[in-house]
Amino acid sequence: MRHAEVLVIGAGPAGIAAATAAAENGCKVIVLDDNVTAGGQIWRGATVSSANTQDAAKHRAMERLQRSGAQVLNGRSVFSAEASGTVQTLQETTSGSVVEQFHFEKLVLATGARERFLPFPGWTLPGVFGAGGLQALVKGGYSVAGKKIVVAGTGPLLLAVAAHLAEDGAVISSVLEQATFAKLAPFAASLWTHPAKLVQGARFRGKLWKTPYRAGCWVIEAIAGSGQTLEAVRVTDGTRTWTEPCDLLACGYHLVPNTEIAALLGCTFRESFVQIDSAQRTSLPNVFCAGEPAGIAGLEAALVQGEIAGLACAGCSHASLQRRAAAERAFGDRMEKAFALRAELRSLPRPDTIVCRCEDVPFARLQGHQGWTDAKLQTRCGMGPCQGRICGPAIEQLLGWRPVSIRQPLFPVPLQAFCFPDASENNTTEID
Ligand SMILES: Cc1cc2nc3c(=O)[nH]c(=O)nc-3n(C[C@H](O)[C@H](O)[C@H](O)COP(=O)(O)OP(=O)(O)OC[C@H]3O[C@@H](n4cnc5c(N)ncnc54)[C@H](O)[C@@H]3O)c2cc1C
Repeated sequence: MRHAEVLVIGAGPAGIAAATAAAENGCKVIVLDDNVTAGGQIWRGATVSSANTQDAAKHRAMERLQRSGAQVLNGRSVFSAEASGTVQTLQETTSGSVVEQFHFEKLVLATGARERFLPFPGWTLPGVFGAGGLQALVKGGYSVAGKKIVVAGTGPLLLAVAAHLAEDGAVISSVLEQATFAKLAPFAASLWTHPAKLVQGARFRGKLWKTPYRAGCWVIEAIAGSGQTLEAVRVTDGTRTWTEPCDLLACGYHLVPNTEIAALLGCTFRESFVQIDSAQRTSLPNVFCAGEPAGIAGLEAALVQGEIAGLACAGCSHASLQRRAAAERAFGDRMEKAFALRAELRSLPRPDTIVCRCEDVPFARLQGHQGWTDAKLQTRCGMGPCQGRICGPAIEQLLGWRPVSIRQPLFPVPLQAFCFPDASENNTTEID
């Protein structure tokens, strides 16, 4: 079992900032992340030139992390955690699966967020992607050059994704934002307090100057061509409907926090988010939380919260960061209000629309059940490989159900990992 004074889960901006601050102040820090490289969602394999401010921020953060002496272990997915001080990870290698155990004195949860998907007829067709998902594929080398793409859903991520895809040679035919201009206007007006975000927004818009940005519009159906792949989308503004031809649809409804580990540990929640104090401490005295699981508020919030958590773990003062943290929290609150989901999105699925993609459960089979547990027992909804990460937030939106409990392992792990956890030297289990 490896030991860390401070164990950080997640090597996105929040985890990087937390690990750096704790290690710079003398703590032995280990960072665990399930991706092959550090950086999280926003800094994943960035291809932008080093003159770009966002990329420069990434390089500064990575350099400081490296100098701090914190140890980053990539390719480790945390599937179980106990507040008494242990965490188990699964690493998939070419020679099999490796399970490792880590012991911590203090734990920082910096597990970020994922996209929210809402089911609509045709959303499982080839050619329909999550907005951030398509961006991640492009960052990984997938080419969208010359492809006609509709970007739809809600949230500031849509503009960031559309700009990125356009930069990669895609033709963005429209950006469809479900929130109305009336909701977006006060949010946009408030951005003068965050000039960097204003500049970033203007930069994205500049790259999309030929592309219409339609507020108050959403996709009601993805239509297949003769080859059973996407050919067009049906769009509405609530009054009119029309068809937009496209090769790809990138569609995501803002973000949902990755809070499974916090729930497993028994942290207290404030609605969907982990409850924290001004030191980013959760209801458990040795567990801290930074970034998106504590509230969706963007990159700057993740960085400042991570730094506060790292300093608090090392017993250092973080008073000078509190004003910045409060401003970023307020930005997050305004963003949540502006991009709140409209009620019409609940009536998008038809009876035969698949809701749980892992277990092929259509919407009609979910109706008439009392809640998550009942539906799970009767339909296997949420019991596939993603363990409800995709269908869970969708069902909460559609039917108002929330999972009542969470269990380890958080995702499927080879059974042998549990049978022989101490079988090999160094408590590391190699499984063929
Ligand atoms: C798909 C996607 C794309 C995005 N693209 C942009 C963009 O282009 N521009 C922008 O401004 N914002 C973007 N965002 C928002 C951005 O991620 C946040 O604003 C902010 O940077 C989050 O930082 P974070 O450190 O809290 O989380 P993240 O950057 O998400 O980092 C969390 C890390 O924890 C890891 N992790 C989670 N669970 C586990 C586990 N069980 N075991 C091990 N590791 C785990 C994740 O893989 C990830 O590497 C995107 C978000 C998403 C979900």
